[in-house]
Amino acid sequence: MFKLPVCPHCGTVYRYKDTKAAIIKKENECYHCHKSFRRKLFPYILVDVIIIIAVSIGLNLLLLSRLSTFNVVPLFLITIALLVIGYLLIPFFTKFIKSEEENKLPRSKR
Ligand SMILES: [Zn+2]
Repeated sequence: MFKLPVCPHCGTVYRYKDTKAAIIKKENECYHCHKSFRRKLFPYILVDVIIIIAVSIGLNLLLLSRLSTFNVVPLFLITIALLVIGYLLIPFFTKFIKSEEENKLPRSKR
């Protein structure tokens, strides 16, 4: 699961930077085979969100038990840092799927 997406047509592995660019656009064309595909974030991105929330709660509880005085700032900073990490990890929780227009073709004639 924890890997960069590949083209659903030719299997070309997308680099981190290319994946980020592909996430912004809904429809994409493979730079290798020039066939179109769509990016799919759900439900894969939920794994990313759940991991970040779980780590965030865990670290916050750990910090709370270690801090002698209640101080919100370190808790806040850790949560912000984890949100940034979660955002940076989004390309690893993305899948590329074939565009629907190609799936429709065989069914158009009845
Ligand atoms: Zn391709």
